[in-house]
Formats: sequence, structure tokens, C-alpha cells
Amino acid sequence: MLIDGRKIAAELGSELTERIAALGTPPGLAIVVATGDESTAWYVRSLLRTAEKLGIAARRVDLPHDADAATIGGALTEAATDPGTHGVICQTPLPHGLSLADVAGAIPPEADVDGANPVSLGRLAAGLDAYAPATAAAVLAILDHEGVELTGRRAVVVGRSTVVGKPAALLLLARHATVTICHSRTPDLAAVAREADVLVAAVGRPGLVTAGFVKPGAVVVDVGTNATPDGGLVGDVDTGAVEQVAGAVTPVPGGVGPVTTMILMRHVVSAAERRAQRA
Ligand code: NAP
Repeated sequence: MLIDGRKIAAELGSELTERIAALGTPPGLAIVVATGDESTAWYVRSLLRTAEKLGIAARRVDLPHDADAATIGGALTEAATDPGTHGVICQTPLPHGLSLADVAGAIPPEADVDGANPVSLGRLAAGLDAYAPATAAAVLAILDHEGVELTGRRAVVVGRSTVVGKPAALLLLARHATVTICHSRTPDLAAVAREADVLVAAVGRPGLVTAGFVKPGAVVVDVGTNATPDGGLVGDVDTGAVEQVAGAVTPVPGGVGPVTTMILMRHVVSAAERRAQRA
């Protein structure tokens, strides 16, 4: 069975429309961009379109493509202090080989709707309230939508990045799954993956997860997005072969991606609701 991420996103969007109407004023999202990267530009346009459809006031904050960490950090903090802005995200890639961790500490945790500030990940690890990176949260939203039981089940996450693998593993752990995290030095990856009731692939290697990685009936969530030479997009999972063995699998495109965008919007709405409650 293929899991329809676009349908899940549409359902999440309907819930958000109601919450936004109840707020009375539009939630605000600032997207700080310091790159001319074409795929980033495409992604930002798609975020702006989705926000507009929902009634979220999203805006781009453009910085020079050679901005340094202090400039980017300053822009992130300034965006968060704007009264109409509730969530702030920093697009990657960043200039000068800067990494997100170099600048994301400047986003206050209450506006850190994509869980980029290391404090947010720390809070998540400590079991405290925090926004998880939207992609990791989207993995859980998909599993919940499909009614996948997690308590006591074996979950294997392939990939240990700060933006996807680690937070996805933490979220699964918080839901009482028994979690194994794999990475590029994991020997016999297929054997470890075959233990999973829930297998999450967040690597960036097309076709890495073959049918031999999958326990019959397992749920497979493909986070990977890999550009193909003809301009298409594929995940990390050999979907055609894996769907013969798995209970369910998310496709690429049309799986995790659209749900991620909607989870990001949900975090913006939550941030606006929380500020309204504090006022
Ligand atoms: P990343 O930072 O490059 O991390 C990749 C992880 O995969 C690393 O932990 C790496 O291990 C591991 N890995 C690499 N080769 C491996 C192999 N042969 N076997 C097992 N593990 C291997 O990437 P990321 O930012 O987490 O993103 C992962 C994928 O998700 C990418 O395709 C990205 O484009 C996609 N993505 C999708 C969304 C979405 O919304 N759909 C959002 C974000 C990212 P080491 O740590 O040992 O190097």
C-alpha cells in the first residue's frame, strides 16, 4: 500500500484553517534566505504558496549570499521580534560553509518552528516541550494518520542527522518504540533494518533500501529526496520492490514532503496560539 502524503497534508491543512480562523489575526512566518540556490528558491516559493492558501502571513527575508554568521543570526533574532511574526526559519544552504548550527541559536525557542536551534533538540531529548524539525515531526504525523501502533514496536531509523534522523528517533522513543539508529558505519544494515516494524530511511542515497531490508508487513517511511538526471525526484527506497513486502510505504514525491510543509505551518499556528494565550 502506498501512503498518500498529499491527502494527509490536505487533511492537516483543513484543521489548520479552522485554528487560524479562531485566532482572528493571521499567524506570521519569516523565512530567512541567504542563498541563490535554485532548489531552495523553489522550496521557499512552495512554502509561501501554501502559507497564503492557509491564511498565514509568510515573508522572505533576503540576505546577501556572502552574509556572515553574525548577520544571519541578527536577521533571525530581528525577525522573531516582529510582533506579526510567530515563527522563524533559516533556509539552507548557508554561505561560506556555515552550518545551521552556527546561526540557529539566534532563533528564540518559542519561534523555532523548524526545530533548528540546538536548544530545541536538547529540550526534545530531555522530554520537554519543543518544536521538532518539521520533517521528523512529519514522520510521526504520517504514522499516526495511518494508525500505526508504536508502543513496544521496533523502529529503525537510517540516518543520524540533526535535522531528520536524530529527532525522528527521539520522537519515536517518546512514543515508546524500541529505537535503533543506523548510519554509514553500521555493518550489515539490511539485517538491522529487517528487524523493524517501522523503518525510516533518511539518508539521501537513491535505492539504498531494497526489498531485502524490509520485514514483511513493516511500515516504511522514505524521507530521502534525491534529484534524478532528468529533473525528477526519488527517495532512498526502491519503492516498486519494497511495496511487494512492506505493509505500507510512503512514495517520493508525494509522501513525507507535503506533510513536512503542513507540519511547519502547524508549528507556526501553534506558536501564534501560544503567544495569544500569554497575552
Ligand atoms: P545528511 O545530513 O546528509 O545525513 C545523512 C545520514 O545518512 C547520515 O547520518 C549518514 O551517516 C547516513 N548515511 C549515508 N550513507 C549511508 C549508507 N550508505 N548507509 C547508511 N547510512 C548512511 O542528510 P539529511 O539532511 O538527514 O537528509 C537525509 C535525506 O532526507 C536527504 O535525501 C534529504 O534531501 C532528505 N530530506 C527530506 C526532507 C523532506 O521534507 N522530505 C527534509 C529534509 C531532508 P553518517 O552520519 O555516518 O555520515
